[in-house]
Amino acid sequence: MNSSAKPLPHKASLPASATDVSATPPVIVQVAFDVPLDRVFDYLAPRPLPAGVRVLAQFGPRKLVGVVVGQVAASPHQLRPLLAVLDELPPLPDDWLALTRFAARYYHYPLGQTLFTALPTALRNPPRRALAMPPVYALSEAGAAWQPPARAARQLALWARLRQGPLALDDEARALHPQAGKLLREWLAAGWLAQVTPAQAAMTVSPGPALTDEQREVVDGLSWAGFSATLLDGITGSGKTEVYLQWIAQALAAGRQALVLVPEINLTPQLEARFRARFPHTPTVCLHSNLADGARAQAWLAAWEGRARLVIGTRLAVFTPLPELGLIVVDEEHDGSFKQQDGLRYHARDLAVWRAQQAGAPVVLGSATPSLESVAAVQAGRYRHARLTRRASAAALPQIHLLDIRRQLLDEGLSAAAWQALADGLAAGETSLVFINRRGWAPVLACVDCGWLSSCPHCAARLVLHWHDRRLQCHHCGHHETIPHACPSCGNPDLKPLGQGTQRIEAALRRQFPQARIARIDRDTVSRRDAWAEIDRQVRAGELDILVGTQMLAKGHDFPSLSRVVALNADGGLYSADFRAEERLFALLTQVAGRAGRGALPGQVWVQTQFPDHPLYLALREHDVAGFAQRLLEERASAGYPPAVFQALLRADAPELDTAMAFLREVRQYAACHGDVLSLGPAPASMARLAGRERAQLLLQAERRAPLHAALSALRAGLDDWARPFGSALRWSLDVDPQEL
Ligand code: ADP
Ligand code: ZN
Ligand code: ZN
Repeated sequence: MNSSAKPLPHKASLPASATDVSATPPVIVQVAFDVPLDRVFDYLAPRPLPAGVRVLAQFGPRKLVGVVVGQVAASPHQLRPLLAVLDELPPLPDDWLALTRFAARYYHYPLGQTLFTALPTALRNPPRRALAMPPVYALSEAGAAWQPPARAARQLALWARLRQGPLALDDEARALHPQAGKLLREWLAAGWLAQVTPAQAAMTVSPGPALTDEQREVVDGLSWAGFSATLLDGITGSGKTEVYLQWIAQALAAGRQALVLVPEINLTPQLEARFRARFPHTPTVCLHSNLADGARAQAWLAAWEGRARLVIGTRLAVFTPLPELGLIVVDEEHDGSFKQQDGLRYHARDLAVWRAQQAGAPVVLGSATPSLESVAAVQAGRYRHARLTRRASAAALPQIHLLDIRRQLLDEGLSAAAWQALADGLAAGETSLVFINRRGWAPVLACVDCGWLSSCPHCAARLVLHWHDRRLQCHHCGHHETIPHACPSCGNPDLKPLGQGTQRIEAALRRQFPQARIARIDRDTVSRRDAWAEIDRQVRAGELDILVGTQMLAKGHDFPSLSRVVALNADGGLYSADFRAEERLFALLTQVAGRAGRGALPGQVWVQTQFPDHPLYLALREHDVAGFAQRLLEERASAGYPPAVFQALLRADAPELDTAMAFLREVRQYAACHGDVLSLGPAPASMARLAGRERAQLLLQAERRAPLHAALSALRAGLDDWARPFGSALRWSLDVDPQEL
């Protein structure tokens, strides 16, 4: 797999034989394909090809696009020639190939599939034309004193725009003047304009607010000399985003590109607008999941060619090629959406740190509730620690009230105090948020006579009642059915929804406060990215009194008028089988609470719980993020959980549980040979059945990364063989650093 393979001895120097008709030696390249095989394939190439060239090749009965990853001198295989070299693009860059190689190695995933995960879909297929880059123009020194004739209104508009900063010959320019292209070229020829590079265009920055002393100290504290990793640990509303913007401005001013990774749910048009407003002339691309394949590929190419200077995106954006990378920011670094849950199970935060190291650039991980992994890295001295302890707008952190609901009669899931808090908010004209992390009407439909509960026929899960759609729905496999009129088990017509979901809370609020303007925000109402824009506008315009929603509402959003938060049904996270559940619950509640009181009004938060004395709630009330993290870290260390140890999870599923278990037992026998590695299980997964398949898992654990990975490499080589006797019934996957057990 290395491109500096020794050249073949030149045949001309060998004794000529009767069969030797070719004067030049064959070129043999190694090609990686998007196939689930952990190897590369040799082909004859028409000429030496550097690693990173895309090619078209016959692969069995199919013609597939592959990526050249190396060249070899000889091959034991019968070789076929490549069908085509797709050279309309330059070879994929070396540092990008190195990143994908590292990811393939670290996550023990086939190199070919890793490459094709990292490559935009539109580039996975043959051939595409390279994009033309629009030229960028800026006023020249001579142009500063010039002006188009006063009659030409549209020319004046175009000129006025140029006075604000560099302009690319794109849709914006053509909207200002249909003949923008011709005019700009004329003005360039006349010397009024100069053509500038995207890097030069990126340097104009709109002014931001004056930094607080604390922010200033943090901004100045970043070292730009080579690689460094910094945990920016700042309470909600402390102005972390403002700090990122300052650092990004510095990176852009130094002629570097910046990469900002944000959680899935945060990449809203508002966030994009905030960045674009600060860097109005910076060629920026936004890589979110709603982007069409073509647009994603264009953005990717723009970044690769250095035309895009600022890249904002969700986890997949960590694979964007950035030849002049100078800064990476990972916002809300604790967020679970940075971990991919299928295929290449990578963690974008961890790859971001690796990339920064490779690029010799700083990486900043920001959060109000840092992951224990990052806190541990600070304690171990691997990350620097920067802190923002006060809210930027001089607002205080919200006051948190724990509502003990053990001996209370709840009305539609809300205690009297919670109802009162909302009524007071309405009377005062303040905006309130009711948080319940469950969509639908009720989590389950029940028969009070025989105890029947609505369950998914394919999963070990309850069917959720969705009243508005008149159906029962599985949130795991998508199965749905109509609501039965009577108990399927005993015929009793009296079926009762148990518990609350967002729909039911919304209905209860509308009944109680008929005059209030209420919006529900969950995956059923806000499925598209654009829907955020409307909600954001309504909240800011003061057109909403109460928002009811799931964790979609918890993160990132900055609604200055929102002063009250009521959190319902959070306790579930306290008795989960997953040891990370508490960490996640604390982060979620801190984020939700952090929505309150960001503007002029002081924030108040009411949390209903059956465990008001639980350390999690006490820490939440005291805003003691560091103390809470310390307690969990100590617990994890004594129980032998990450980050004190390193884990990998081998998952298997099959129509029968026995199949999955038998496979894992076999693997376990082998894993037992690796002394430093503990294997736990196999055991049924916490969700033992999903979409009609039984699931089991084997947990591998070690105190250091190296022995774990050595064992995984050894195991990986045998997994296909061990799986073979079970045939196609068995599926397995390996998850390194699993986030969910
Ligand atoms: P975080 O990302 O830490 O939650 P933000 O950067 O969103 O915080 O800042 C919270 C609010 O404070 C925003 O409305 C932001 O505009 C404002 N803000 C941030 N820094 C300053 C500052 N130095 N002066 C005034 N307002 C600020
Ligand atoms: Zn019944
Ligand atoms: Zn299901």
